[in-house]
Amino acid sequence: MGNSVKKGKVVIANEKQVKSLCTYKAEIRSYKIDEKEESEWGKNKAKSSLKTEIQQYINSSDVVIFSKSSCDNCSKVKDLLDEWNIPYFAVELDQISNGQSLTKELSKYTMGTELPNVFVKESCIGGYTDVLQLSKDGLFQKLLEGKHDKPKEDAYDYDLIVIGGGSGGLAASKEAAQYGKRVLVLDYVKPSPLGTTWGLGGTCVNVGCIPKKLMHQAALLRQFLKDSSKYGWQIEDNVQHNWDIMTESIQNYIGSLNWNYRVALMQNKVKYENGYGEFVEPHKIKSTNSKGKVKYFTAEKFLIATGERPRYLGIPGDKEYCITSDDLFSLPYCPGKTLVVGASYVALECAGFLAGLGLDVTVMVRSILLRGFDQQIAEKIGEHMEEHGVKFIKHFVPTKIEQIEAGTPGKLNITSQSTDGSEIMEEYNTVILAIGRDACTRTIGLDIPGVKINEKTGKIPVNDEEQTNVPYIYAIGDVLEGMLELTPVAIQAGRLLARRLYGNSRIKCDYINVPTTVFTPLEYGTCGLSEENAILKYGEENIEVYHSYFWPLEWTVPGRDNNKCYAKVICNIKDSERVVGFHVLAPNAGEITQGFAAAIKCGLTKEQLDSTIGIHPVCAEIFTTLSVTKRSGGSIMQAGC
Ligand code: FAD
Ligand code: NAP
Repeated sequence: MGNSVKKGKVVIANEKQVKSLCTYKAEIRSYKIDEKEESEWGKNKAKSSLKTEIQQYINSSDVVIFSKSSCDNCSKVKDLLDEWNIPYFAVELDQISNGQSLTKELSKYTMGTELPNVFVKESCIGGYTDVLQLSKDGLFQKLLEGKHDKPKEDAYDYDLIVIGGGSGGLAASKEAAQYGKRVLVLDYVKPSPLGTTWGLGGTCVNVGCIPKKLMHQAALLRQFLKDSSKYGWQIEDNVQHNWDIMTESIQNYIGSLNWNYRVALMQNKVKYENGYGEFVEPHKIKSTNSKGKVKYFTAEKFLIATGERPRYLGIPGDKEYCITSDDLFSLPYCPGKTLVVGASYVALECAGFLAGLGLDVTVMVRSILLRGFDQQIAEKIGEHMEEHGVKFIKHFVPTKIEQIEAGTPGKLNITSQSTDGSEIMEEYNTVILAIGRDACTRTIGLDIPGVKINEKTGKIPVNDEEQTNVPYIYAIGDVLEGMLELTPVAIQAGRLLARRLYGNSRIKCDYINVPTTVFTPLEYGTCGLSEENAILKYGEENIEVYHSYFWPLEWTVPGRDNNKCYAKVICNIKDSERVVGFHVLAPNAGEITQGFAAAIKCGLTKEQLDSTIGIHPVCAEIFTTLSVTKRSGGSIMQAGC
């Protein structure tokens, strides 16, 4: 400890003393905080969240001890530091009014370690034994001296620039700003080939989850209307759906969300630029707005959260005449007779709600439905859709799209070829391509800092901390290689990354057992392994599959589809029948799956499922009474609910 460091200690015993902490900080670091800065600091503290308050304490001195006046180890650490002549701040959590809440919040930073929590140069080093050990190894002193190696804070315009203001980018930027970091978010939507564009918030809000779920709801209402007569409602026979009213209401709602996102960025002091970002130097970004105006920004760290955009077939007429999910949700006219190309999430969900709205819908499937999902369930989804009016053309792909008649909608002639070479032609009003999405990584200058992408897919490989091969550049969300493309995943990864970068957290995003729901007319909720993958992983003899059909009570009176809703859990026999796969085909499957996903995260076993008392009469209670195994071949048909 050099002579320049004065010995001393400040104990933060109450909130008023924050001011003196500030003064003390100025004294030991030999620079002067002017009055304005000081009062600002005090003001901000009063307003700030617990997280910010903790961060401010952590930033306030080279050595900070979160302590309790009654704690032995806390006293020992303070005695050691006194002995070594090292100044520190002790935040006595039992003596400040919000000490309990601060302790709780602090445990998130420190992964729940006991007091004291000692921070050196803003990094958590642990408690008493850690301080002793580090000192023995000569590392405590090294840590104290190390700060000067850090780049100067104002060497760059921002601490963090986030490219992409979608689910992940917005979450990460707001979280980083909570730690007092200077954050810039760039968001820019390149118009679709048909010219569709939208506001801040990315895919989910504008052209994904939100409008999709609302259109799914519009379609479900038609079924409710049908059911309602059996419940005594006397409604007109010829109820019509109005596409324009639906899209206008949904777009109005989306507009309000776009606005809320902008407000949230402002409130969090995140700078927002509506510009297309690309690297021009390793630490420098060029932002170009829709009028071609260019600005440059530098940052210490970068986060790539640029998401994906729909893929096109690359056949004559596709970009001129086909639409994608980017265009569908704000289409200014009803699409009419529609061909949906593709057979995954996007394709089946769009086909499902369009058919539910009463349109003539055909799905063109290249190979199988819902690749990667449990195939027994995928087939049941297909059967149910077919029974409810959706047509499927299997093992065909379009080869040519020609316009027969312009209009809203116009008429298109589609030529398609089967895998065995035969050709068919058919007229449709609209063709929706839902054949997958490409990562937006090829035109953002990633070669300049040297960020590696998978050349084939454009996806960015990262380590388990979402760090690319260039240490100061991170990536989250749909651009990641091998990760799930879901909104909550992007949000979780973004938040946790910001906490690790700026909040001393070590918690990583857990990509295992992420629940998801396919919003087909009969929804499919799932968490964990498909039956195929469970067999691959554990061997058929080592898994037990419990399953059953069930009949939602609400469907009995209108006499709707019995033995269509289906529940299946897959258990690992060798691990106390732990549930490794959960599958439900039911109304509100997403609502059902969310809770079971939490249980699976806690290590749910079949025995625990069986000992859980059901809620009657709801669909989810079936999971508390599953007794027939697939292996037994026992009947799972239901006569009533
Ligand atoms: P995005 O939300 O796509 O955000 C990326 C943003 O970056 C966009 O605004 C983009 O315009 C912008 N951008 C790109 N390049 C640049 C650049 N160079 N400069 C500036 N800005 C740039 N997930 C679910 O969990 N549930 C669902 O029900 C669901 N439904 C979906 C339905 C559809 C039709 C689709 C297409 C997706 C759906 N998803 C769903 C997936 C979900 O939308 C995505 O996983 C999520 O939006 C990914 O977030 P992100 O932050 O990675 O990217
Ligand atoms: P996807 O999962 O990549 O599926 C692409 C589909 O298009 C597959 O059925 C594929 O068939 C087919 N296809 C690909 N190329 C084709 C071609 N040239 N001709 C004909 N068919 C072709 O893509 P997605 O449905 O667009 O979904 C993208 C991601 O968005 C998903 O991974 C998902 O995570 C997310 N998403 C989530 C939700 C939700 O949570 N509810 C909803 C929508 C989207 P093959 O099987 O033959 O390859």
